[in-house]
Amino acid sequence: MNDRVKEIIKSSAEAGWILEPLAKELLNIYGLSTTNFSWAKTPGQAQASAQRIGFPLVVKIVSHQVLHKSDVGGVVVGVKDSAQLDAVFFRLSDLPGFDGVLLDEMAEGAEVILGSKHDPQFGPVVLIGIGGTSVEIYKDVSIRMAPLTADEALSALRSLKGRRLLEGYRGRTPVDMGKLTTLIADFSRMVFELSDQDESIDLNPVLCSGDRTLIADARIMLKR
Ligand code: ADP
Ligand code: MG
Repeated sequence: MNDRVKEIIKSSAEAGWILEPLAKELLNIYGLSTTNFSWAKTPGQAQASAQRIGFPLVVKIVSHQVLHKSDVGGVVVGVKDSAQLDAVFFRLSDLPGFDGVLLDEMAEGAEVILGSKHDPQFGPVVLIGIGGTSVEIYKDVSIRMAPLTADEALSALRSLKGRRLLEGYRGRTPVDMGKLTTLIADFSRMVFELSDQDESIDLNPVLCSGDRTLIADARIMLKR
């Protein structure tokens, strides 16, 4: 395990979970592509990062007291200029445990959910679902033992009821399945390698367009 990965895990041990900016940094170390992001602790830093990422962007609360950010109004999508960014920073800074904001590149496409957990029988497993109502209502999830190959990832995706959402449903551009299945295989290797450290991982959503597959949110729960 790389030193920076050890450092991220160590610094998150007390809280029991890894904040989104550090979780995304860790994913990047494992070669998994996330949205372009920056962690800003002051309004000035936020403005400078916004220039680098470019408007419009998504602004999210960073706080160890906020596990589910949108539940507390901690995610604002489509922030379009500096004035709006200042206003959002100011509002989020009132939330409990405020530790800055994450500025996130706006991504789009079909929403895929990737997760991992420990199965008492099979050990580390990867969960693959198609986002939105498909997972919440129909429990449309496929589970595979980690690690898995890109081909196995493809067959897991094909077993989902909502697979048409990836295939260019209602005139949308089909998802780049090569990129998505590679991402799943790489994710499963990371899951396998980190299985002594983490309890569960949630990548929700992974936004998949015709040419890009970007992890837009990441939550890593650590073993106690
Ligand atoms: P949480 O799951 O903690 O509530 P998320 O980071 O998943 O917070 O953000 C909530 C929702 O906002 C996501 O499900 C997605 O629909 C949208 N969203 C988050 N980040 C992005 C992004 N970078 N680009 C586009 N939409 C996003
Ligand atoms: Mg999320």
